[in-house]
Amino acid sequence: MTRGWNPWHGCHKISPGCKYCYVYRQDERYGTEIPSSQVRKTLSFDLPVKRKRDKSYKIEPGTLIFTCFSSDFFVEDADEWRTGAWKIIKERSDLTFYIFTKRIDRFYVSLPADWGEGYENVIIGCTIENQDRADYRIPVFKRLPVKHKTIICAPLLEKINLTAYLDNTIEEVAASGESGNEARICDYNWVLDIRNQCIKANIPFCFHQTGAKFLKDGKLYHIKRRFQVSQAAKAGIDFKEV
Ligand code: SF4
Repeated sequence: MTRGWNPWHGCHKISPGCKYCYVYRQDERYGTEIPSSQVRKTLSFDLPVKRKRDKSYKIEPGTLIFTCFSSDFFVEDADEWRTGAWKIIKERSDLTFYIFTKRIDRFYVSLPADWGEGYENVIIGCTIENQDRADYRIPVFKRLPVKHKTIICAPLLEKINLTAYLDNTIEEVAASGESGNEARICDYNWVLDIRNQCIKANIPFCFHQTGAKFLKDGKLYHIKRRFQVSQAAKAGIDFKEV
């Protein structure tokens, strides 16, 4: 079972992958009056610890919580709130919290004193979109005390060489194209290349979604949002370690 949890909303664009940010696109689509760059705490801040009348938690144990997908968990504006979010994550040690971030270099800001080698129920996905951001973020990421680490190549904007970073500290690499009307092209050869790097290093690989403009065998496909995940799955190129 999966759930989303957005303790805050809004973000600042910091790198090429942010150009057509999903959060900005969604806010525009729904005509949100507050600018997307204004980060604010949401009414769902304490969602994981909300209880039913019988005092049991509303979210069932074992649920995978996609955390902070309408912002970046490590965004500067949320430094104070993050302390409270970590407390919630600790209280719900029976849930798994999956956090994607483009700000892995801010990992230590507001980290709980008892973090130690990492909470067992936290997976952190270091998001990279090109070689430049991979070579900046992944070395930082690899040094951090985090129990479960993944690399998320999204939106994949060019061919990326990850070979120097692929060892058994990385639990999975995922690749995705960009969605939205202005999406940049995702070349299937870039996806296959990352997959091959993972196979050589025996690291699980997942092709998560094609994106809206998908180049395969020299032909550009325009893929509707609702088919982007299923089309990637149809490629059948996910890899599990052996
Ligand atoms: S870091 Fe993520 S949420 Fe923030 S602007 Fe960039 S893509 Fe959007």
